[in-house]
This record gives sequence, C-alpha cells and structure tokens, in this order.
Amino acid sequence: MPLPESQPTRQEANSATGGVTVQAETPGPPVFGKETQRHRRNSGVAVARFQTRIGRFNFRRQRDSNRKMPLTDKFGRPITDLRISVTDRCNFRCVYCRSADPENHMPGHELLAWEELERLARILIAEGIRKVRVTGGEPLVREGVEDFIAALKNMGASDLAITTNGHLLADRLDKLLAAGLNRINISLDSLDQTKFEEITRTKSFGKVMAGIDAAQSTRLKPIKVNAVLVRGINDNEVESFAEFARDRDLIMRFIEYMPLDADRHWSRELVVTAAEIKKRIEARWPLIPIAHERSETARKYRFADGPGEIGLVAPVSQPFCGACSRIRITADGKLRTCLFSKEDHDLKSLLRNGATDEQIAEDIRAAVYEKEKGHRINEPDFHPPSRTMVFIGG
Ligand code: SAM
Ligand code: SF4
Repeated sequence: MPLPESQPTRQEANSATGGVTVQAETPGPPVFGKETQRHRRNSGVAVARFQTRIGRFNFRRQRDSNRKMPLTDKFGRPITDLRISVTDRCNFRCVYCRSADPENHMPGHELLAWEELERLARILIAEGIRKVRVTGGEPLVREGVEDFIAALKNMGASDLAITTNGHLLADRLDKLLAAGLNRINISLDSLDQTKFEEITRTKSFGKVMAGIDAAQSTRLKPIKVNAVLVRGINDNEVESFAEFARDRDLIMRFIEYMPLDADRHWSRELVVTAAEIKKRIEARWPLIPIAHERSETARKYRFADGPGEIGLVAPVSQPFCGACSRIRITADGKLRTCLFSKEDHDLKSLLRNGATDEQIAEDIRAAVYEKEKGHRINEPDFHPPSRTMVFIGG
C-alpha cells in the first residue's frame, strides 16, 4: 500500500541548477549490456505502445509464477538490484548524512526481524533480483548480519555486497567472507585524521583504515572506497584520494553529495561534480575509461600508468536514472523504488497481517511497475524526500 511521505519542512525548492552543470544522462565510456535505445528515449507514441506491451507482459507474467523473468517497470527497465537496509542505527554521524543532535531511532518493533527480511528477500530473488547489497544505517552494528548474508547466499543471490563505514570491519571480516560476501564498499571521506573526525564526528580513523587494509588483503580485493566530497570540507583531497587508489591498488569512488542529509544543509554550491573531479585527476595522471553496464552507477576509469581505479558517481550532475535497475527495502519494511521516492510501499503490514508470498509479490510487482522515471533533483519544483539517507539505506 503506498504511503505518501510528508513534505520536508526545512529545505526550500531549488529554482535553478545553481553552479552545477547538469549533463544529459549516462555520458561516459563504452557500455556493455543488452539494453536497447528505447530505455533511454522514453517519449512519444513509441513509448506509449511499449508501455502497453509491458503492461500486458506483466499481466501474463503474474499468471505464470513459475517463470523467473526480472521485474520490469513501465519504462522497460529491468529491476535486478536490491538494497536492503538492515538498521537505521549507526555508530557515526557523518555531516552529509546524519544530524549531530540525538535522533529518534525507530523503535525496535518497527524494524523487520531477520526472518521478515529473509522472507522479503526470498520473494524478491524469486522475482528476478540478482544483486543484493546489505546496507543501513551501519549494517555491522546489527548483530546477526553475517547469518543474514549467508541466508541470502543460500537463496541464490549471485552477487552479494555490503556497504559499511568500516569501524567494525576488521573483526568481522572472516565471518562475512565465510557467509559468502562477494564485494564490499567502505566509506572513507578523508585521509586526514582530524578532518575524518570532524566529518564522521568519531575517533575511528585508525579502525576504518585497519578495516580497509584487512579487506584489501582478502579475496574482496580490489575493494571499493566511497568518498562523498562536500565543497569547503574535503574537496581539497581529490588528488590524495587518487594517490590512495594508486598506492593500494583499490577502486576509489567519488559520490556526489545528494540532498538527503538530516540537517538539510545540501545546496548545489556544496556539490563537487564528477566532471571537476575527473579534470583534476587527469591533470596529474591520464585516465582510461573502463566499459561498464548501463545500469551501473559509476563511470569507471583506470590509470594509464599504473594500478588503481576511479569511479565517479554523479547522480546530481549526470543523472543515470534512465538505466536504473535498483529498488530498496528499508529497515522498517518499506519498499522504495527510488532514493527520492515520495511514496513508501508498506510491505511490513502485509508481512504482519497474514499476506501470502504471492500477495506480497503482486504488491511488489505493482509498485515496481510504477517506479519513478527519475529523481528530479534538477527540476525547479524538486523537494527532497522526508526520509534522509540513514533511514533509507544507500
Ligand atoms: N553506514 C554505511 C556507510 O557509510 O558506508 C552504509 C550506509 S550509508 C547511508 C551508504 C552510502 O551513502 C555511503 O557511501 C555514504 O557515504 C553515502 N551517503 C550518505 N549520505 C549521503 C548524501 N547525502 N549524499 C551522497 N551520499 C551519501
Ligand atoms: Fe552512518 Fe553511513 Fe550515514 Fe555515515 S554515511 S552517518 S556511516 S549511515
């Protein structure tokens, strides 16, 4: 059942794109994948016909539950990636994500039990989800996450990843690997300890670096390290992060700051664009584009003269919604079809009120079919969702 979100109270609508140059969708290096042009050019009669066909196709698909075709939305985008937030709690308070003030966490009974999360995951994997990323909040603060990952593996998730702030990682790595984890993203927003402490409002720099080193010495290598650059805070570290990628032979990903922070401090002037980052890195080290799937969020580059990779994730300046393959389940059991959705789809009520798997799957199909065309950050009437990142799951 769709639940409308309340309107934000603290952020004014943006009337222009400010200093940020917004590019057409999905620019960048060559692509792999079998998707066709029609997914990118959703306009006019052809699209209307295509949507009708997809509608009929979905109807037929619902009648034949034995066929495992991927979920598809009305724009023809196959939905194969699921992000599951297992908690809204976090041991960090990153300035671009959470508030410094104590926040009300959701009460425990609002959060899905592991069994409930597993049931949803099983239904979604049967519906064609292949990639699953476990996130939060901070997923490692919830006890039992390794068992959950093992359960996901047993269900047939072929690509299993986690996003973590790294604080608890070194101690938990063996269990995560044993559970079948395939990939890891570790957040690190500064290479300068003092700056790191200011951004995360913790003293965890050493622990996070230890987590990165530990993960990089396992089969998870090359790991991905995520940094969100905020103008005036850590944008002076572009080159240092690139050097970090080169020195450690890892994938350094720069994620554009999005209007999902609890303090509602986001503004276009604070966004450090992918184009600026690329230009600055290329001024020192030539970059070579790496082919990518259209649905991937990052445009990827390797260094011409050595190890290491760069990933540029540009939801603000180069939106990639046209090839989006992602949906999300929040820790309190809401299905979100876009980070910026104005509607939550309440799966928890279905779970707790006796719905069958098929009824839940039907609700999911209907919600996915109506997935938003795009996030609209660059539209004049854009309002951020009332749920901030920590309550959604990045
Ligand atoms: N706690 C884990 C972590 O930080 O890696 C996982 C959850 S966190 C919400 C997932 C990702 O979202 C992190 O890479 C984080 O940097 C990113 N993130 C959080 N707030 C953001 C924002 N306002 N704009 C862009 N990325 C953001
Ligand atoms: Fe916590 Fe991750 Fe948000 Fe930082 S970005 S406050 S680590 S959830």
